[in-house]
Amino acid sequence: MSTNTETFQFQAEARQVLDLMIHSLYTNKEIFLRELISNASDALDRLRFEALSNPDLIDKDDRLEIIVESDPKARTITVHDNGIGMSREEVISNIGTIAKSGTRELLQSLKEKKSPDVLNSLIGQFGVGFYSAFMAADRVSLLTRRAGDDKATQWESAGDGTYTIGDARKLTRGTSITLHLKTFDEGDDVENFTDKFVISKIVRQYSDFVAYPVYYKETGGKQDDKPLNSMKPIWTRPRSEVTEDEYKEFYKHISHDWNEPMTTWSFRAEGRTEYQALLFVPSQAPFDLFYQTAKFGLHLYVRRVLIMEHCEELLPAYLRFVRGVVDSSDLPLNVSRQRLQEDRHIAQIRKWITKKVLDSLEEMQKNEAEQYEQLWKNFGRVLKEGASFDFDNKDRILSLTLFESSADPVKPTTLKDYLARMKEGQNAIYYITGPSRRAVENSPHLEAFKEKGYEVLYLTDPVDEIMVQWVPEFQEKKLKSVVKGTADLGDDTDLREKVQQFSKLLDSLQARLQDRVKQVRLSGRLKSSPVCLVVAENEASPQLEKMLAQMQAGPKEKQKRIMEVNPDHELVARMRDRLASNPDDALLDDFAQVLYGSALLAEGSELDDPQTFNQALMHVMARSL
Ligand code: ADP
Ligand code: MG
Repeated sequence: MSTNTETFQFQAEARQVLDLMIHSLYTNKEIFLRELISNASDALDRLRFEALSNPDLIDKDDRLEIIVESDPKARTITVHDNGIGMSREEVISNIGTIAKSGTRELLQSLKEKKSPDVLNSLIGQFGVGFYSAFMAADRVSLLTRRAGDDKATQWESAGDGTYTIGDARKLTRGTSITLHLKTFDEGDDVENFTDKFVISKIVRQYSDFVAYPVYYKETGGKQDDKPLNSMKPIWTRPRSEVTEDEYKEFYKHISHDWNEPMTTWSFRAEGRTEYQALLFVPSQAPFDLFYQTAKFGLHLYVRRVLIMEHCEELLPAYLRFVRGVVDSSDLPLNVSRQRLQEDRHIAQIRKWITKKVLDSLEEMQKNEAEQYEQLWKNFGRVLKEGASFDFDNKDRILSLTLFESSADPVKPTTLKDYLARMKEGQNAIYYITGPSRRAVENSPHLEAFKEKGYEVLYLTDPVDEIMVQWVPEFQEKKLKSVVKGTADLGDDTDLREKVQQFSKLLDSLQARLQDRVKQVRLSGRLKSSPVCLVVAENEASPQLEKMLAQMQAGPKEKQKRIMEVNPDHELVARMRDRLASNPDDALLDDFAQVLYGSALLAEGSELDDPQTFNQALMHVMARSL
């Protein structure tokens, strides 16, 4: 019985998720038990962790345990734990809301998609664990008492958008969650979740590795002596003895991801130091991979005892997509977060894991190219950050990097394969940066490269701009932007001869466009287009300039670019002739503006002065009719 009872609305996002759960056709309803046991186990971990700094929370002879109790007559099932528990405020914020940033956007996008597997995708993205109880129950009540408090809190909901919360009495610390089971239709083929045999099967299937004992108890009877789970830490068992399903369930437990991992790696280091790692790569990128607030890192165990859930020090940031556990016997049990950053062992483990992960990625790239491509699609943007930040492993990361390129419309390439395809006389690795493949692949800058059969890499991620700043070369070949400097494509005597013929036109264009470009010169990189815009070798590309401007507050003066003119283009030749016959022709002003604007449009940029461009275009059109 509770007092001081209030009724609350679930937060809008939470209500939506709950609705999806209740109306789901998800067939594996039994996973609610996995989720509740997982939460109980987390609560016990947290208790143990808090007790490190507050030993009074646990008695010497406290047994940390989980009990699954069922009442076949009342058709209820209750999961008890004596973990950390929750205060009234914590119940409201943990159970009544979904605090993860980006949730609203995700729900919105799922709603727009209206796909039948909305729920799968949703639960995959979050692990909306607690709410899964409503797949099996039409009413759920929760009684909890936080460790160190004497007041308890009772929470209850029928999943209908509201919940009640009140003060209550509870003799011991921890949480008990009771499900009032739904009556399922005959055809639903749902097992009887109050049956001991069914419960024990589910626990063994999903929660065998849980580090605390899970006991069964029938209401009114005595608790079993023997736990339902074996409690063996899965990473200490030889790989050959663990089934893939066991690894998958363990992954789901530690990652809170409902999807299966893409791959599982287990590593062991022996010798002077001893540590083990069991690592996973998720099959899908979490939606908050690029959120500042998202938590990453590995679970750190010291001699089988969980020390920390998100230990970021164990992996460099560019491997933050990797999940899993590390167990070390060389650290003290009471290691603090502060100390971790300076700890010699941690630094050593991090180096070791980084090497192991890079080894494994290389192996996958070699032997399971398709799977690797999928991994790259999901996490390449993160991994790539390493090329800029991890100086020691830069070349390995570059070798792992996949690039879109002009060599193939869909299949990405490695730098190694690019080098193998380089043409006779080609002495650099060429690339172009831009917002998308579509935007860059028809850029006029590529024309002469295409004609020579030189491959060009399409760098279409914003982070690529940063990467190329840090990666001047790969295997002694320079990386060169096709929009920077002069295109050095071999013999340029032809071009030098033409400068004389066009010098008047170049001067005149420069005078007419002096507010827009800093130089007008002949181009060696154009074939079919009349003009393009480039920057000097040491200047920032327009994309990088834009990124930097966005990062710095306030407006920033845009640098002027160089306009290159194609001497072999008919339009250019005619302008030259026109200028020779009538140097003051006003139409040449308009021509200059239109040329400049079309150079911007051709490379996929926005016009910086649409009005002037448009007026000039109208004049030119009017005159030609
Ligand atoms: P997650 O486990 O991924 O955080 P859940 O929906 O399973 O998401 O649980 C939501 C939150 O509710 C947990 O993060 C925790 O704070 C709280 N919670 C759930 N079950 C318990 C429990 N048995 N003891 C203490 N806190 C709990
Ligand atoms: Mg959970």
